[in-house]
Amino acid sequence: MSHNMRREFSNRDELIVYLREQFPQATETDNHISEMLGGRKAAEATLAKVDPFKYAKTRNFFKGAVTYLSPYLRYGVISLREVRDFAFAKARNQSDAIKLVNELGWRDYWQRLYLQLGDKIWEDQEEYKTGYNKSEYAPQLAADIREGKTGLVCIDSFSDDLREIGYLHNHARMWIAAYVVHFRRIRWQAGAKWFLEHLLDGDPASNNMSWQWVASTFSHKPYFFNRENLEKYTEGVYCQKCPLYGNCDFEGSYEELERKLFPKGEFSRQRNSQSWQKGKRVKGK
Ligand SMILES: Cc1cc2nc3c(=O)[nH]c(=O)nc-3n(C[C@H](O)[C@H](O)[C@H](O)COP(=O)(O)OP(=O)(O)OC[C@H]3O[C@@H](n4cnc5c(N)ncnc54)[C@H](O)[C@@H]3O)c2cc1C
Repeated sequence: MSHNMRREFSNRDELIVYLREQFPQATETDNHISEMLGGRKAAEATLAKVDPFKYAKTRNFFKGAVTYLSPYLRYGVISLREVRDFAFAKARNQSDAIKLVNELGWRDYWQRLYLQLGDKIWEDQEEYKTGYNKSEYAPQLAADIREGKTGLVCIDSFSDDLREIGYLHNHARMWIAAYVVHFRRIRWQAGAKWFLEHLLDGDPASNNMSWQWVASTFSHKPYFFNRENLEKYTEGVYCQKCPLYGNCDFEGSYEELERKLFPKGEFSRQRNSQSWQKGKRVKGK
């Protein structure tokens, strides 16, 4: 970006017109303007609303008290240290802030890994543990996913949000990544690239390593989900209006889906382990 760019605008609309002019290619890829505001003032206002105690209890739910700080953290408008200090100061007991601080730690960890790996974050860190090898995954993202036209109300809504808002809840990112890689058998790199085109917090480290974690190229087993899981954490908002309800790709128990998705999976031997049966995420992200 040129340092000669204009910095003063009388209102947001003027800024938007200017940016569209300056970045015609970006405008062509995605012409949506997110309602999320940039800048230090907006970051401070967002930080002031953070409730570490509520966060710990509800972060997995769509309506949960997540912070929405990621775009500010991504661009250094606010630092991890600032958020950590705020969380500890606001929490009644230190332990109430642990969950949030732990999540901040993931960002820090991925950044450190990025320093070591550089562009290798685009390469599979390990083999897939799904029973399929790399060549069995499609290299390109399918158009129906990109355009939000799969017919699955949940996935299509996440795809629309990604384009229109540039933000997705962590759980939606996990579900859409699992859908792309495991239900559609598309390489994680194609999905990761798509996310980076749209996310306001788009970050090669957090993004690619999380996609690799879902894919199982940076974890010991693939992450996937069933309809019940999605319905619970979204409080049914998508399932209720989905014509495929009761008959969608995500129906069934974890064991049934595992057999369907990974018939050749080496990890199926671990089927009896408790954490696997419950479909729990070992890292607890
Ligand atoms: C497939 C996939 C892609 C992702 N891509 C990105 C990305 O491009 N950029 C990005 O910042 N995060 C990414 N994440 C991590 C996480 O989903 C987002 O950081 C989080 O949802 C942002 O919303 P929030 O600020 O409301 O999060 P909160 O839950 O309120 O968390 C507070 C902060 O902690 C950090 N954090 C929380 N969870 C994670 C995590 N799992 N990994 C790394 N940092 C975390 C973020 O900086 C976040 O802003 C991705 C996760 C998945 C599963």
